[in-house]
Amino acid sequence: MTDNVIPLRRKTDPPIPEVTLEATTQRAQVIVLLAGNGEQGVTWIDVSALLGLHHGSASGLLSNLHREGRIVRLQEKRDGCLIYVLSQFVAGRRISPYKPRDHLTVDLMAEALRRFYKPCRHDPNYPHATCKQCEAGVLLREYDNNKQV
Ligand SMILES: [Zn+2]
Repeated sequence: MTDNVIPLRRKTDPPIPEVTLEATTQRAQVIVLLAGNGEQGVTWIDVSALLGLHHGSASGLLSNLHREGRIVRLQEKRDGCLIYVLSQFVAGRRISPYKPRDHLTVDLMAEALRRFYKPCRHDPNYPHATCKQCEAGVLLREYDNNKQV
């Protein structure tokens, strides 16, 4: 698994896009993937591979869709990760209902990260590959973008 790897960016790379609009497209892409996978469903790893997202963003997308009741989470796992399916593909398996706690915990962790985050000397649009502060900034930005979805 290669989650949380921030690619080295150069000044000549285009700036990281604001993802509010892009996120709606990503949600649609996740639904299309779910429809195509049928009873097999998807885990955050599949979403991460499809959209090239870090763990946090990929599970954020699934978690938001689950909270809204658009997708179902099974109690079953694949590669240690919970499987999500469209409701028509549950096939009598045990489901794992959304718990408000799921999001509360993530919100608290994001708040903790925010309190310790200090901006660094790097341009936030060009996060430095080995800078922990850049990485924290990227994670907080992804969290905020997912939250508005
Ligand atoms: Zn930095």
